[in-house]
Amino acid sequence: NTFEALPLAAPLQRALADRGYTTPSPIQAQSIPLLLEGRDLLGCAQTGTGKTAAFSLPILHKLHENPRGLKPKTARVLVLTPTRELATQVGRSLETYGSHLRTRHALVFGGVGQRPQVDAMRKGVDVLVACPGRLLDLVQQRHIDLSQVEFFVLDEVDRMLDMGFLRDVQKIVSLLPAKRQSLFFSATLAPAIVKLAHEILRDPATVTI
Ligand code: AMP
Repeated sequence: NTFEALPLAAPLQRALADRGYTTPSPIQAQSIPLLLEGRDLLGCAQTGTGKTAAFSLPILHKLHENPRGLKPKTARVLVLTPTRELATQVGRSLETYGSHLRTRHALVFGGVGQRPQVDAMRKGVDVLVACPGRLLDLVQQRHIDLSQVEFFVLDEVDRMLDMGFLRDVQKIVSLLPAKRQSLFFSATLAPAIVKLAHEILRDPATVTI
């Protein structure tokens, strides 16, 4: 049970070694092989369990294995988070795990000016980490185009629903290509959350820790 035993690309192995991470956490050990196979995932996990690496490593691996030029205003990966603090943390993790890759990412959330976010999206990015409200604002203003998303991650869905983002999330999902890999993480699996998961995921593998 080591990262070296997982079929992750060399630049990711190097980033893990730089960080001194040798052993995958339980959610990482369970999720990474399923995600590399292309499965959708329903993960029941709290923060602090290593779920950010559990989704970042296989997605960065797939971007690396299947490179594609940037297209203006688009992203290959969309990570939705309930808060700007979480979005910022996910961005930092992407920098850590992607330190030997040339992955571009942008952050989009409310409470700050939209100009720098619009500029960051102009040439397109690999990974867009966003909160629902501001993302929809920028989509409606045609600054962001979600039609090229290949990987969709919903992080901390329980908090997202507590904050009243259900309608926004459903609207965002309606703008994504049907052909995509989707990952859904929540600390709890209340009925409303399971219902939303089944609207979004296709034949998901379930991982609980
Ligand atoms: P997360 O739940 O993704 O927010 O991760 C919680 C913390 O654990 C973060 O500070 C990570 O950098 C750290 N972490 C994640 N995976 C591992 C691992 N396999 N070994 C050691 N630390 C880890």
